[in-house]
Amino acid sequence: MSKIAENLKELRNEIPSGVELVAVSKFHPEEALLEAYAAGQRRFGESRVQELLRKQESLPADIEWHFIGHLQTNKVRQLIGRASLIESVDSLHLLEAIDKESAKAGVVSRILMQLHVAREETKFGFTPAELLEYFRSKGYESLRATHICGVMGMASNTDDMERVRADFREIVSVYKAIKEADPDLRGFDTVSMGMSGDWPIAVEEGATLVRVGTRIFGEREYCLSAVRAPRRSTPTDIRKD
Ligand SMILES: *Cc1c(COP(=O)(O)O)cnc(C)c1O
Repeated sequence: MSKIAENLKELRNEIPSGVELVAVSKFHPEEALLEAYAAGQRRFGESRVQELLRKQESLPADIEWHFIGHLQTNKVRQLIGRASLIESVDSLHLLEAIDKESAKAGVVSRILMQLHVAREETKFGFTPAELLEYFRSKGYESLRATHICGVMGMASNTDDMERVRADFREIVSVYKAIKEADPDLRGFDTVSMGMSGDWPIAVEEGATLVRVGTRIFGEREYCLSAVRAPRRSTPTDIRKD
């Protein structure tokens, strides 16, 4: 059994049933994804649009692609219709762009609203107050081609597991407050939180979807040039006598 298949098997044994697994494959080559695919994994997470599209082109069609990175509005059009779930909607501006492009393309996009609860300043997302206000005022009623399926969040990047747990609790409490404020919300049932280092805590606190990369694929190498296809010869390279 390959190392990736072994890691996946172990992980699946640990994750309780009812919690879904996104295998975060960003920066890993297609061969690594194929090993996970052969071991039964069908849900993969990518954080860059070009990389997702490139992998989607060459890998089996029954893979579900989750987009989990910061999405620039000028890349939205390319992603629409390609991702089964956009987990990282971090502003109303982006949400509107997704809705507009989805309507134009004649598809319904499924998305999660990204919450910012971690202590880092660099993380994207809505504050709990902003997100609650959006649902209290039923902002989603103006959406024509977007379905909000739940929330996504990350805990602070720290070894302090009590801090991490408190962050996950906050995400879940916002999720529950939204459901209470609006009992008629349909299909709002996903809480995506937890990565390689903290997913067990996330599950204890109520995650329904975990996003795990390193634990499955090993460390990422943040240099893709080595795996790019070699330049192909063009007709002009062929000399005629
Ligand atoms: C990279 C990434 C993950 C996976 O992180 P690991 O520590 O490798 O498991 C999960 N969520 C998001 C949003 C990511 O960008």
